[in-house]
Amino acid sequence: MIEPGSVSPETWMVVAGRPEGPGEPLNHPISPATTFRSGGERWYGRNEGNDTLDALEQVIGGLDGGETVVFSSGLAAVSAVFDLVPVGGRLVLPADCYHGSVALAMRLAETGRFTVDRVAVTDTDGWIGAAADSDLLWLESPSNPLLEIPEVKTICSGRRRPMVAVDATMGTPLGPSALAAGADLVMHSATKFIGGHSDLLAGTVTGRSGELVARIRETRRLGGGFPGALEVYLALRGVRTLALRFEKASANAVFLAGRLRDHRQVEVVFHPGWGSMVSFRVRGGDDFADQVCRSLRVIANATSLGGVESTIERRSGHGAGTEHLPSGLIRLNVGIESAEDLWSDLKAALDG
Ligand SMILES: *Cc1c(COP(=O)(O)O)cnc(C)c1O
Repeated sequence: MIEPGSVSPETWMVVAGRPEGPGEPLNHPISPATTFRSGGERWYGRNEGNDTLDALEQVIGGLDGGETVVFSSGLAAVSAVFDLVPVGGRLVLPADCYHGSVALAMRLAETGRFTVDRVAVTDTDGWIGAAADSDLLWLESPSNPLLEIPEVKTICSGRRRPMVAVDATMGTPLGPSALAAGADLVMHSATKFIGGHSDLLAGTVTGRSGELVARIRETRRLGGGFPGALEVYLALRGVRTLALRFEKASANAVFLAGRLRDHRQVEVVFHPGWGSMVSFRVRGGDDFADQVCRSLRVIANATSLGGVESTIERRSGHGAGTEHLPSGLIRLNVGIESAEDLWSDLKAALDG
């Protein structure tokens, strides 16, 4: 039995959570069972899950440095964390934040569940100030889609602080550990990099073991945001190649960000120097942005990120939570294709 932390993350994501006994399969089979003969450890699928789910939670938990609970989608995971805010409490979201999390928070605020405030991602003093009278600070690292990086460690070191949770979907479990930086919980949309093939919805929440994780687990059992058997199986299969996919996609993204910066039709490029997402603003506003997105051949005009295939979309004017984005903002999620092919595709579209 290999302990998390005794090997590098790249090794852990390959070797962890495998059956180990003689004659056992090397990989967990898909496990669609929902009910179990009484007298054993498992009773009902929504309560105790199955071996394949345990394996997935073990792999992600080891990468995040805590205990993981897997949900049926990223937003089911976000919802379980928002549910920790007491009735009438205060939730603080970053000014640049995944639009789905914003929409969920606003719905809950509208119904009087809690109040919501926004702080700019990099306004560290603002976050520390907000901590004094709020219940949950929700950070995103990096933020989606402007790729700003909050100072998680400094924000968490404030003495009178509420709970801090970090949506690390864009950073993946390979990025800097939010729990090590002092956060209470870290969340991933496994739909993205962990699954990696744009064919499953799942989400994860990891905390140091204990009361908070038990609450999250209970929310899954009571609320029913349980992941399906096929999704769990595919996510476990997907995470085995996460390091390889992320490395290639990041290298492609660095290359493309450099080329885009030099193109006369591109006004500004957002890329933190690592990671596979590149946002950029084209001259010519939303109309030209749409034209670029529609005329690509290799890169698909589609939403989402973290898959093996490159996708692109105009992100400005995308509805609730995107009002702060400048017109002509395009989000490119770089895949693992040849970088040269991707650049030829982009260049042809930008040259018009
Ligand atoms: C996609 C995404 C989510 C939501 O995840 P789903 O699996 O689509 O429900 C949450 N946060 C970020 C940063 C995302 O990119």
